[in-house]
Amino acid sequence: MKISIIGAGQVGSTIAYTLLTRKLLDELVLIDIAEERVRGEVLDLRQGQSGIGTTVKITGSNDYSLTEGSDIIIITAGIGRKPGDSRLDLARKNSNIMKGIIERVKVNENSILFIVTNPVDVMTYLALEVSGFDKNRVFGLGTTLDTVRLWSLLSEEFGINASSLEAFVIGEHGDSMLPVFSHLGPEFERERLLKVFENVKVGATDVIRLKGATTFAPALAVVEVVESIVNDRGDVLPISAYHEDHGVCIGFPSNITRSGAYPTEFELNEEEREKFLKSVDIIKGEIRKLQEG
Ligand code: NAD
Repeated sequence: MKISIIGAGQVGSTIAYTLLTRKLLDELVLIDIAEERVRGEVLDLRQGQSGIGTTVKITGSNDYSLTEGSDIIIITAGIGRKPGDSRLDLARKNSNIMKGIIERVKVNENSILFIVTNPVDVMTYLALEVSGFDKNRVFGLGTTLDTVRLWSLLSEEFGINASSLEAFVIGEHGDSMLPVFSHLGPEFERERLLKVFENVKVGATDVIRLKGATTFAPALAVVEVVESIVNDRGDVLPISAYHEDHGVCIGFPSNITRSGAYPTEFELNEEEREKFLKSVDIIKGEIRKLQEG
């Protein structure tokens, strides 16, 4: 199993470290335009790996030829929002970066492209369009991280292990995301559920305010998805996959296997469906604005 991570910044390097500890791969490649940084990350990882008994081949630079033959390419490269930048400014800058990367990565017909860069739903759509790949083999993290946050907070609130519950955050990884609680039993009081969701919505903001960036939770969410691919586990997670019915990539429960991601037939009640369709429209609007230049 060969995995390449494009963008060895805070999230990319934490994904690399987490992957290594899970013993999921034989070869790991890190690519970044910041050449010294990426060489430093590679050295740091190499120096530690015998401590956990692995002999993964770890390389990295700004040279895309290293990505040749990758089974999975995880893209976290991008730039953050600068003061005064709108979401659209950010989308424009990151879409240029994304296009350049997709044109340069060395992939084969079985490679999977897994997008983390924000705005993730728009970036995933772009990656799908530019790569011309089969739609099941290009997907983004979507609302998986928001769902992991939801499960963690539900576990704390209700004193249970919530990760086996059919409760998800779906839609845009952004302001219009919504919780799906309609599959839960009456023991989960609606008021408490909604209070938990309010905390999910500010989850990233709190972490960024306190430590500058989110790293561990995104990396753990990404590695859950990777584990499901590598072990062909078919986990159901709300990654951002392409939906024929809606014409966008959006967070929705999907089966994740070695051959890619497949949206499930997950039922929504009327209120959830209405909010989901609003979220679809918001992503469509962002893509349209981006295409209009
Ligand atoms: P970061 O600034 O620490 O890292 C980004 C890296 O990308 C840097 O090392 C930079 O040198 C590199 N880069 C920039 N342009 C490049 C290019 N053309 N080619 C190769 N590398 C390039 O940022 P981060 O905190 O690691 O976040 C990375 C991205 O992940 C951001 O877009 C962030 O919003 C996103 N993110 C998404 C989620 C999610 O749930 N989808 C969660 C957390 C972060």
